[in-house]
Amino acid sequence: MQHQIPVEKYGSTGEIMSSQVKACVHCGFCLASCPTYQELGEEMDSPRGRIYLMKEALEGNSSFNQVAPYVDRCLGCLACVPACPSGVQYGELLVAFREQLEKNRSQTFHQKVIRFMVRHVLPFPGRFKLALQLGRRTRPLGFLVPRQQRKMLELLPEQEPARRIEASPPRSEAVRARVALLNGCVQDVLAPEINRATRRVLAVNNVGIVPVDGQSCCGALAMHCGETASARQLASNNLNCFPADVDAILTNTAGCGSGMKEYPLLFAGTDRHTDAIVFNLLDQDISTFLCLIEIKPLSLITRVLVAYHDTCHVDNT
Ligand code: SF4
Ligand code: SF4
Repeated sequence: MQHQIPVEKYGSTGEIMSSQVKACVHCGFCLASCPTYQELGEEMDSPRGRIYLMKEALEGNSSFNQVAPYVDRCLGCLACVPACPSGVQYGELLVAFREQLEKNRSQTFHQKVIRFMVRHVLPFPGRFKLALQLGRRTRPLGFLVPRQQRKMLELLPEQEPARRIEASPPRSEAVRARVALLNGCVQDVLAPEINRATRRVLAVNNVGIVPVDGQSCCGALAMHCGETASARQLASNNLNCFPADVDAILTNTAGCGSGMKEYPLLFAGTDRHTDAIVFNLLDQDISTFLCLIEIKPLSLITRVLVAYHDTCHVDNT
């Protein structure tokens, strides 16, 4: 798509946004893969429509406030990326654009509260636990808070799950790989059993886990809200903490894994760009990793019926 985006005005990601907008030929092949287009049936809620709206805002023909509702409704699932014959990296455009959107839009009080939570509470397990306790105590006063936060209060678990670290050494001497594991933030508080199960599965498959002290939230939450400075801070900490001499850096949350795949974009034009590329190459989802090393078959005592959620992020990273 031809455009007149003033690239230099948008800093290190200006060129990235410009090249992705240019790569879109407006063919519409991506529309059928987009869940928001399928649901809402509006061109402006499709990848093609959003790319056009982003171009208009970046060129200054529309205000950022005008395009905000359509970009906010984008799930960031990236189902549109494999459908695109022109190779538009929609995820790169979206992350870079959301940074500009946050800088240039006006925000309601409710949106400011959400941003505050994303920046200062959710990424920090200690603070998140305190917020959970506070939320549980104030649940009876839920009728006083806005509808969206009320839903969050209703979803709070009655009890916080016990969090304990279990050492899970490989079951035999023949270690097949050495990996580092992202603990995550929200998941580690709300569902710590997922990390425990991950460690057990890796141990059974003779994979050694290198401890990573001081690791933090991956930064995806902040990045996907356009809070790029906060995301960069968290990502920078992870670049410092995670070793590069492992076979893989594993995540068991597809959203975190895809967020970490965007580290090179986050550090484009900085002296940490190479570190971010190395990290990106090591970042792998647990299911992809187990598939590659050929997971040992489970020996179940009884037959079980399971449903598998084939996450869109893993398909696209
Ligand atoms: S990321 Fe997902 S929701 Fe957003 S435009 Fe692409 S397919 Fe649609
Ligand atoms: S499929 Fe690709 S080139 Fe075609 S409209 Fe969608 S994003 Fe643009």
